[in-house]
Amino acid sequence: MEETHQKPHAIFVPYPLQGHVNPSVHLAIKLASKGFTVTFINTHSIHHQITAASAASDIFAAIRESGLDIRYATVSDGLPVEFDRSLNHDQFMAALLHVFSAHVEAAVEGIIQSGTTPEPSCLIADSFFVFPSKVAKKFGLKYVSYWTEPALVFTLYYHIGLLRLNGHFGCLEAREDAINYIPGVKSINPIDTTSYLQESDGSSVCHQIIFKAFEDVKGADFVLCNSVQELELETILALKTKMPFYSIGPVFPIGFTKSLVPTSLWSESDCTQWLDTKPPGSVLYVSFGSYAHVTHDNLVEIATGLLLSEVSFVWVLRADIVSSEDPDPLPSGFREELGDRSMIIPWCCQIQVLAHPSIGGFLTHCGWNSILESIWCEVPLLCFPLYTDQFTNRKLVVDDWKIGINLCDKKQITRVEVSRNVSHLMSKKTGDNCRNEIKGMKKRLENALRPDGSSEINLDQFIKDLKFSIQKKSGATLGGNKDRISNGT
Ligand code: UDP
Repeated sequence: MEETHQKPHAIFVPYPLQGHVNPSVHLAIKLASKGFTVTFINTHSIHHQITAASAASDIFAAIRESGLDIRYATVSDGLPVEFDRSLNHDQFMAALLHVFSAHVEAAVEGIIQSGTTPEPSCLIADSFFVFPSKVAKKFGLKYVSYWTEPALVFTLYYHIGLLRLNGHFGCLEAREDAINYIPGVKSINPIDTTSYLQESDGSSVCHQIIFKAFEDVKGADFVLCNSVQELELETILALKTKMPFYSIGPVFPIGFTKSLVPTSLWSESDCTQWLDTKPPGSVLYVSFGSYAHVTHDNLVEIATGLLLSEVSFVWVLRADIVSSEDPDPLPSGFREELGDRSMIIPWCCQIQVLAHPSIGGFLTHCGWNSILESIWCEVPLLCFPLYTDQFTNRKLVVDDWKIGINLCDKKQITRVEVSRNVSHLMSKKTGDNCRNEIKGMKKRLENALRPDGSSEINLDQFIKDLKFSIQKKSGATLGGNKDRISNGT
């Protein structure tokens, strides 16, 4: 038993989306480098995509050679590997809601019954899953819930009952006045809450996931959050009074260089040589992440606005950006007209591109990983949120931190406004306010990751607390965890 206490064995299940797999792989590596054994479980579909994109058959092989104990398994998400999850979002989410837990449960049981050592002691799983506390309880594991978005978004979902009670969610005519009663959140306008909280019909599959997941998270023994205490101090302090909540971000690949563990779901185009030919700070990086879709009309306005702006750009244009049924949505002749002014690619190693000195701005959908990566590279943001947490993330970036500006003020975007705001952000005169602010933010992130920084201290404290609770539990009956977190409302 002594050995188990020294070396916890975590079974780690990331949410099967790029923006969740990335910070999960990097957290797994971080924990392994602090002495954990980790068994990382990807879905067949994620595994298939990563290995097809990188030609690696065991994604953790290289990191294992460096001495870390990370084992790897795959499970079905309930759908065939070749199923188009991007085109059939609701069916995909329904599989995660109804079917995935059975596959995870079987996998966890298999690992435990194999007699592997050290004996698994905790389940680390994404907070968006609807089942981990039950699975963990069944097998006598501690449940560590991993939240890969800002603490502000976590607390909005955690207090969904309070939002409903106050008429800010789930009413036919929801209130439009500011929300000012959530602990640790001074004030937030309803239009800055997540897309799901702004919809009056709460019956979608994603709503069901959120409701169930935030019930399940109340059974977590620990919550880890990929944010930084100094960035969201009041919100995080308020959450800490309700549960063992640890901000441990930003969780990046070691040294912020291309990870030894491949994570990209698409093969990466290399734009380094092209970027090398451009002056410092002159290129706009454009990407809307791995999953969000843009309407055909908006895409044409953005493309034409970029053309009008006369700024050079790298544009990550996924084949399914509008829909996998519309793989080439750019206006005809667009690429030719731009010539050497742009590089349009299906995917890249984003951190490598953002870190290149020629990059001076990022037109982004406001995915949380993208924001953290951009801050790290001191690249100011042009914000075009599309759905889910991206509206709330935009508020943090533009209204609170002032490290970015909005792409357009109204929902309907126009080429003229796109062009004007691209020029505004990229110009030294007008963009320097954001550039100066982001330097200060980078310092906070850097400080948080120092040995005496908040995130490093929080991670070490979590490990200490986890080990202590495992030790304590070894005397109790199986699945008899008492230290559950309480109801948020
Ligand atoms: N990313 C990448 N290459 C690209 C575009 C994105 O490696 O061409 C990575 C990016 O660095 C980030 C993740 O994919 O880590 C996207 O996560 P984010 O939270 O920004 O957005 P999501 O895809 O979840 O909407």
